[in-house]
Formats: sequence, structure tokens, C-alpha cells
Amino acid sequence: MGQFLSPAALPLPNFPELTPDSLAHSVKHQLAAASALVAEAESVVAGGELGYLETLEQAENQLQQAWGLLSHLNAVRNTPELRDTYNGLLPELSRFYTEQGQHQPLYRCYQRVAQSAAFAQLSPARQEAIRLALRDFELSGIALEGDAKTRYAAISERLSQLSSQFSDHLLDATQAFVHPLSAEECAGLPESSLGMLRQLGEARGFQQPVVTLDGPAYLAIMTYAEHRPLREMVYRAYVTRASEWGPTEQDNGPLMEEILALRLEMAQLLGFDSYAALSLATKMAPDVSAVTEFLESLANRARPFALKDLERLKQEATTLGLATVEPWDSAFLAERIKQREFSLSQESLKPYFPAPVVLSGLFAIVEKLYGIQIVECEAPVWHPLVQYFEIHENGHLLGGFYFDLYARSDKRGGAWMSGYRSRMETENGTQLPLAFMIGNFAPPVGDQPAQLSHDELVTLFHEFGHGLHHLLTEIAVLPVAGIHGVAWDAVELPSQFMEFWTWENEALGMISRHVHSGDTLPAEQLSALQAARHFQSGLQALRQLEFALFDLRIHALNPAPTLAGIQAELDSIRQQFALIQPPAYNRFQHSFSHIFAGGYAAGYYSYKWAEVLASDAFDRFEEEGIFNADTGRAFRREVLSRGASRPAEASFAAFRGRAPSQDALLRHSGWTSAHTDKPAMGAQV
Ligand code: ZN
Repeated sequence: MGQFLSPAALPLPNFPELTPDSLAHSVKHQLAAASALVAEAESVVAGGELGYLETLEQAENQLQQAWGLLSHLNAVRNTPELRDTYNGLLPELSRFYTEQGQHQPLYRCYQRVAQSAAFAQLSPARQEAIRLALRDFELSGIALEGDAKTRYAAISERLSQLSSQFSDHLLDATQAFVHPLSAEECAGLPESSLGMLRQLGEARGFQQPVVTLDGPAYLAIMTYAEHRPLREMVYRAYVTRASEWGPTEQDNGPLMEEILALRLEMAQLLGFDSYAALSLATKMAPDVSAVTEFLESLANRARPFALKDLERLKQEATTLGLATVEPWDSAFLAERIKQREFSLSQESLKPYFPAPVVLSGLFAIVEKLYGIQIVECEAPVWHPLVQYFEIHENGHLLGGFYFDLYARSDKRGGAWMSGYRSRMETENGTQLPLAFMIGNFAPPVGDQPAQLSHDELVTLFHEFGHGLHHLLTEIAVLPVAGIHGVAWDAVELPSQFMEFWTWENEALGMISRHVHSGDTLPAEQLSALQAARHFQSGLQALRQLEFALFDLRIHALNPAPTLAGIQAELDSIRQQFALIQPPAYNRFQHSFSHIFAGGYAAGYYSYKWAEVLASDAFDRFEEEGIFNADTGRAFRREVLSRGASRPAEASFAAFRGRAPSQDALLRHSGWTSAHTDKPAMGAQV
């Protein structure tokens, strides 16, 4: 992986020396310092506000790093002591941030800076940071007075109770179901799924495999079980969780009604006519009608392809003697077609993607695109398989990052990037950014390098896209540097954008080399992979769009809908867009925790929105050459380097020369006529 610098040129945490006590001490110390500074807001003299806010930012920078280290180690090197330390400090930390968001004197400091004559002389990044801070203060109700203020506080508190009850009900309903599988019901399940279901059975005291409503168990049955009545029974249990079909004390129905009513009232207190309008106030998408139009037009474009997808499922159903395709059949039928027509498994691709080759290929790609150099360096780490790298440009150090890519028992699942330290001007000069990038890939065995599946490759590139957004920022004002302050529906642009390279012939030449033969990924394997990428994408997209439209519409209604009204909205969207109508007992909405218990309320559309941005950005590379250095530099300059120093739509327009267009996403999804004229995708295999 190129030269090995030693020692690292950035100040780095000395991981082997960190203990739960030392981490806790540092968090408490920084928390006390930041709290003391916040308390001084009241006595800031006129004209001293900006200096004061900058000092406070330095304290928050220290606090973010102290907390960042503790939460990082809690996630990747978990021990009971560390978990206790973390859980013990979490309430103090959230109290600090809540109090800060409600702090009147602090709010007035920001207001006085914004209203001062000097504001116009501040850097655009600093101006934007102040505008965003004022916006967030106002959206958290700080400008309210009297009864409105009291009511707002009561609503906030009640809403957080309702969200947590919603999750609790769903969890209880999920855990209440267990069904031991007979030998007949196990037909079709692959050994890996059976192993998992056996483990679930053992944990619950059964001698045989069982199915529960946990995601992986449910999916295994829907995808592989040949026993149709079993699939139907499990489907029914899954889509009626936390509804009136189960125990009253687990029914989420009344909570949903109350949540929507309170969200609307909260939005109205803040001067919005719907909760959707409030949600969109912090996002890139302009307003409810624009998002509705966006989702409906995508759904209409996806529909003809979804119809073809359904046609294939129907043909498959006929061969099995099934007269109809029901919701509990679609994943099963799709899997049969996939196994037969795409003679390609993730396992068979793994030898082409040894980790050292993948990493040096990934680095070579971003080096070409952005003119940077990445070198591995010696540094203290928290596990022997962790690697540390630095990014340089023409001899200048830009930042550093750690890769911790392999699964371990003391590590949280999934993959993520966390921006541990941000670029920032400090009294000691420019602080350079540092990031942690974490995966859960299968670790190396013996003296063989780790081998990645193509799915894992996509994940790695995705997280690296987030990492570059954090590391290549040229903004040194903390609240708008890197991914700080970037609109929710735009923050996945750099990550989804990087994923495109894992599907390109030319790029795969750089990231694949068979672990024994040294060959790059053969053309037949590549086209099989590309064909499988679009398989059933029409039906999948329609389903996502149905959820997104439902989320948006129920949050745009004024007055807020009753429980029957919620169902009516969902029914009408399904009448218009769904190709496989769910049975009348379906209560999917009662388990839609993204919007009722998570942060996605009136924001579920963000997944598709960011996909359009990433597709459209990549489209310019396809036009100008995917390794065109000028295009790469333009993307770095206009998107990656800007952070939130200007609105996301402005950064996108500066790169693309226009507003985003859906065309590229349609093409990348295989939904344009150019692709439909080709023989069926699977025929290429
Ligand atoms: Zn992401």
C-alpha cells in the first residue's frame, strides 16, 4: 500500500493507554468547561458576541472529541465497564445539548451578531453557521412566549414519550411471536438460514428451528420457505404487529393518532401550516408539493418496469401452479428466478476482491479523481487489524483516517463513518480532520488476506464517500465543516456517489485481482453482476415510493388524520401505485418506526432524493470520462469541500450547472427505453 510513514504527523489518540476512567474524566472535564462557558452568555458585553461564540465553539470542539472517543470505543471495543461509563454520561451530555438549544441569552448572542453591521463582513461560512444556528434555535421553540412556550414544552415531552412507547409496543409485539418449524415447513431453507433459526430455537428452549418476527428470521422465511401456508401465516403475523389485531396494550393505533395531532400543533406554534412544512424547513427539498411531485413522477416512471417485474413473478408462479402472486409470494418467487438466471453468488466473487487489492484500488481511484495521495502510517490503534492512513496533497497533510473493517464480537454491527475531529481554526493553527471508518466484513483467516463480497465492496465505497466529505472539507468553521450542518436529504450524496465506481468496468480493473490467479473480474461475471443489480428494481422502487408518499401525506394533512384517516391515505396511495395489493388486515403503518419513532418523519423521501443527486452527479462523469481529473476536481471543489457553508442545492447546481434531474437515476435503474430494447437482462449470463 505504498510507503509506510512513521510516525504519524497528526496528533493522534494513544488508544492503548485509554481506560474507561480516563475517557470519563475527559468527557466530564470538557462538559464542565463548555457548560461554564454557556452560563457566561448572559454577561457578554455588546460587541463581544462573536468572540464569545468562537470561544464556545472551541470548547465544543474539545467536548466533541472527548465524547467521540468514548462513544467510538464503546461501539468498537465494548466492555461492560465501558458500556457503564458511556450509559452513565449519556444523559448528562443530552441534557447539556438540550439546555443549550433552549438557552435564551445564548440565542440573543447569535441574534445580536446577525443584526450587527459587522455581520456582512464575516466569511460566508461564518454567516451561514450563524443563520443555521438561529434557524435551529427558532425551530426548537425558543422564540415562543407565555402559553405557547409552555404548550410547546409539554408537546415535546409528550412526543418523546409517545415515540418510545411506539418502539416498546413494536418490540413487545415482535417478541411475542414464535413458531416452531416442522420438517415439512423447513423445505427450501438453505443451511445458513436453518442454522440461524435453530439458534433462535435453542435460545427459546426449543429442540427444532423456530421462526420469529426478527428481521433476519422473517426474511429467511419470505425468501426461501417453499411451504406457502407458512409464508402466509408469518407474513400475517409480521404485518399486524402492534395493531388492533393483537393485544390492546401493544396497539400503536392510538399513539399514531396522538403523534400526528401533536406534531401538527407543534408546527403551527412555530408558524407552519403542517408538520411536513416544518420538517422540510431544514432540508434541501423546497416544499411539500415539490416532494410530492418528485415522488409521484418517479413512481410513474418506475411503474412500467414494475409491471414487467410483476409479469416475471407471475410466470414463475404459473410454473408452480399458483394462480396469483400474493404479498407473501413475491420475495420467494424473485429468489427462484434470481438463483436460476444469475448464476452468480456473492461467495464466488469474493476471491476477486482481496482487501489489500481493494484498498489500493480505492485509493488509486480517489487519487486520480481528486489529486490526493493516501499513505499508510504507523499509529497507536485499538485492535491489531486496524489501519491508519493519511491524506496528502502535493506534500501538504490534509487529514487522517482509521479503517477498522472486520467483524469482532466486541463490535456493534453494521458499517459507519464517524467524523471524530473536524477541520477548524484554533488558537494553535488549523486543526486537521480525523475520521473512523468501520465495517463488519469477514476477517482474514490464517495467512490469507480478507476477501470482500461485492455487497461489502459497495458498503466500503459508501462509507469512504462519507469519509471524504468529512476529510476533504476546506471549511474551518466547525458547525458547517465537512458533514456538519448538511441537509438531511443531501448528506448521502457523496456516499451514494462513490458506490457507482464499484459497478464500472474500468474501476473494477483496479479493485479486483483474484487471490490465486491474479486475474481481474472477468467480463461475464461483471455483466451478470450488473444484470442482477437491476433485478426487480421496479417493484422495489414502487414500494419505497409508496412508503415515502404515505409519510409525506399524513404529515401534510391539516387537520391531522384520525386512525381511519391514516388507513384511508395509505389505501388511496396503494390504489394509485401498488401493483400487488396487500390484504385488508395489513397494518404496516403500525410498525413504521422510521417515521413514528425515528428521525424520518416527513423525511422518508430522503433516500430517493439523495439517490437522484448521486446519480445525476455521476452522470457528468459518464459524459466527461469517469476518471476525468477536471470533473473530479470540480466535484471536490463544489461539493466535497464546501460542507454546509452554502445550501446543498447551491453546491449541487455549482457542480452540475443546473438543478438536479431524475433522468440519470432512471437510466441507472434500468428504466429507460434504451435498456428495454435489449434482451432480458438475465439472458446475458
Ligand atoms: Zn450513508
